[in-house]
Amino acid sequence: MNILVSGGAGFIGSHLCEILLTQGHQVTALDNFITGRHSNLVDFIDHPAFKLYEHDIIEPFTQLTEPVDALFHLASPASPVGYAKNPIETHLVNSVGTHNMLKLALHYQAKYLVTSTSEAYGDPLEHPQREEYWGNVNPIGPRSCYDESKRFTESLSMEYVRQFGLDGRIVRLFNTYGPRNDPTDGRVVPNFINQALNGEPITIYGDGKQTRSFSYVSDIVQGLLKVMFSEGTKGELFNLGNPDERTMLDFAQSIRTIVNPTLEIVFLPAREDDPTRRCPDITKAKTRLGWQPTVTLQEGLHKTIAYFRTEKEQREATLGEKSA
Ligand code: UDP
Repeated sequence: MNILVSGGAGFIGSHLCEILLTQGHQVTALDNFITGRHSNLVDFIDHPAFKLYEHDIIEPFTQLTEPVDALFHLASPASPVGYAKNPIETHLVNSVGTHNMLKLALHYQAKYLVTSTSEAYGDPLEHPQREEYWGNVNPIGPRSCYDESKRFTESLSMEYVRQFGLDGRIVRLFNTYGPRNDPTDGRVVPNFINQALNGEPITIYGDGKQTRSFSYVSDIVQGLLKVMFSEGTKGELFNLGNPDERTMLDFAQSIRTIVNPTLEIVFLPAREDDPTRRCPDITKAKTRLGWQPTVTLQEGLHKTIAYFRTEKEQREATLGEKSA
């Protein structure tokens, strides 16, 4: 198949491109590199079936030479620090950018999947979050550029399914971690691991009682493939995440135990509108797709810490060369 991946140089997008290539597909990736990274592509950039375009999808993409069979639309800043730095770009990629991707998918009669987010539930009043829950979002707060634009993306995508019969579906991704997580994007996994590797105190925002549920990236990529290519997913919405819910204090302690049990944990002011609890109900993905996460937090953390260790060594070696 010919497959287009928007956000192909991002954390999840790059893993998706890599798997699609190993499955024998032709893969075209689009990325404007606001949050995507060239280093995410090094393992497969020279693959003969891979094409990369540095392109911002808020502009129409007109350089395709062959029809597309499936379009994965992943492009968007996704970390709270990333979208706070680029709030207008976040609004635009999830509105105008999504519209461009929808038009492209419809033009080629391609299958379409867009990644939305657990942030669509805001600070949820129902727990765990089922797909039917409508959420509790502050429409004008500092996270709203992401939450509200993703809700718009969902709504617009559903209109293309309803109005034009697009073969489209939506996924709400919960916190995802693993190799290629940007070490500087301010998210909890890179922050805690880098702090631990640098022998610095681990910073908890607020009292650490807030919860998140972390999925290892390979589980999420398998889920994306299942949602895109399984029968009966047109017009459907699926949560993809790992219901293994942890408090941030518990999470900090797990990382500290693996990397350096003597580290201090410090408490900093809470982020504004930080959701207090987040855990997916994945009954729908389990029963309809036979999908569920398989990588435990311990296993995933070990692999991720190894990745961050290597990245740190490479960064330090490069800095050493520059200053020599
Ligand atoms: N967090 C923290 N310390 C950090 C970074 C994040 O305590 O150094 C907390 C943050 O306040 C939130 C959770 O970890 O409650 C997850 O934050 P992240 O930025 O990874 O993503 P979010 O789930 O909020 O989108």
